Amino acid sequence: MTGAPRSDSRFDLPETDAFTRTYWDAAGQGRLLIRRCADCGRPHHYPREFCPHCWSENVTWETASGHATLYTWSVVHRNDLPPFGQRVPYVAAVVDLTEGPRMMTELVDADPAALRAGTPVEAVFREGVPVFRLPPGEK
Ligand SMILES: [Zn+2]
Repeated sequence: MTGAPRSDSRFDLPETDAFTRTYWDAAGQGRLLIRRCADCGRPHHYPREFCPHCWSENVTWETASGHATLYTWSVVHRNDLPPFGQRVPYVAAVVDLTEGPRMMTELVDADPAALRAGTPVEAVFREGVPVFRLPPGEK
């Protein structure tokens, strides 16, 4: 971890820069963005200024569907970084977006005992940060 401590002592909110501002602005409006390479056609996430598959810089933003499947997860019982300590236990998850990229996230409103790999999940936004949940009716 680098840099000065955050003044608000929250480790769950993003620090934006000129490149990621587009992503976080969209997330604040309830849209999940991914990046797609115009040269090889492949999408990626997290956002990078170049394509991680072919190194092209000809990469643009694209709105993802917000649909994904659960790849793996872990229930976190202890985290000393605020505000995570108030949320334990919570489900840290890796999901496969329908568009292809794999994304680290949090699964909210889910019973960990009921989770199965491959379960469909959908993006929701908590304070402008994308997290995922089981679609309504599948809890
Ligand atoms: Zn590429």
